[in-house]
Amino acid sequence: MRKTKRIGLVAHDNRKKDLLEWVEWNWETLIEHDLICTGTTGKLIEGFLLEKATEAKMKFPRITKLKSGPLGGDQQLGALIAEGKIDMLIFLWDPMQPQPHDVDVKALLRIAVLYNIPTACNRASADFMISSKLMTTDYKPILKDYTSYIQRAIEY
Ligand code: PGA
Repeated sequence: MRKTKRIGLVAHDNRKKDLLEWVEWNWETLIEHDLICTGTTGKLIEGFLLEKATEAKMKFPRITKLKSGPLGGDQQLGALIAEGKIDMLIFLWDPMQPQPHDVDVKALLRIAVLYNIPTACNRASADFMISSKLMTTDYKPILKDYTSYIQRAIEY
């Protein structure tokens, strides 16, 4: 994992305010990294960061906006994790409301665990993560060896 992190950012509607407050608190750090967001989350973060960067005459943030989560954005993010293109994930999911794309939410969380990427699902974890000294160093997450699984014998 490089010094510049590729950070996945997703928030369900009832958690978007939380995520935006967190982004406001940490914008000077976030602007140094690559941000990959689901559609609506990304639109909000981009609007906020562009304004901040313009005011402060700082470089513009690098933001990728995927599809909206329920329209495939969570799956796109999961695919990027599987391809080794996401270093960490901030995913403020809503614990109080069922989501139409619940299976996608589960799949994203599962793949984040499978590939051992740092994952924060609430603001406190996100605070700990972004203030970690590992944010500014190279870091290689240990990946479990799935060779025996890949090479398992299939009877057919
Ligand atoms: P959104 O998606 O950022 O497009 O609202 C979030 C989600 O995964 O539900």
